[in-house]
Amino acid sequence: MRELQIEHTRDRGEHLEIASTAVAKMTAHARHEYPAECCGVLLGTRNCEPEDGLTSVVSVIPAVNVATGDRSRRFAIAPELLLQVHKSFASSPIDVVGFYHSHPTGSAIPSRSDREAAWPGVSYVIVGVEAGPKTVLRSWRVSEDGARFYEESVGISTRQELRR
Ligand SMILES: [Zn+2]
Repeated sequence: MRELQIEHTRDRGEHLEIASTAVAKMTAHARHEYPAECCGVLLGTRNCEPEDGLTSVVSVIPAVNVATGDRSRRFAIAPELLLQVHKSFASSPIDVVGFYHSHPTGSAIPSRSDREAAWPGVSYVIVGVEAGPKTVLRSWRVSEDGARFYEESVGISTRQELRR
């Protein structure tokens, strides 16, 4: 993995633990699609207690960016894919815990269109990529009223039980 940087500003106690294999897959996807935005689904488990706030990402499913218009500025995941993913994991403890996409500007801060499309209760990982080797990864959640994003802390896990 080349120069991966994880930045934090503030968080409300939520923490996203991502399997190192999933981080590698997301950053490779972001580089492959550059200068367009890549996107995909985060699969994992979530602790329902808000006081705990721990979400684990065990793997990711890369998706095709089906956004109409400038795909270097926005992304969309086909609803059919989301439906298929939900069906596949219906009887599994693994669930969709969020989404990831990349910003070819190198910034991992959500845009206005990101906020407009965001749902509360899931994590939004943004991978900032540039032409150079630097990669930034941050994760965000949107407030219940959808008005603003706040950041959650991110950790990378290499624990065996996260490898599936
Ligand atoms: Zn974005």
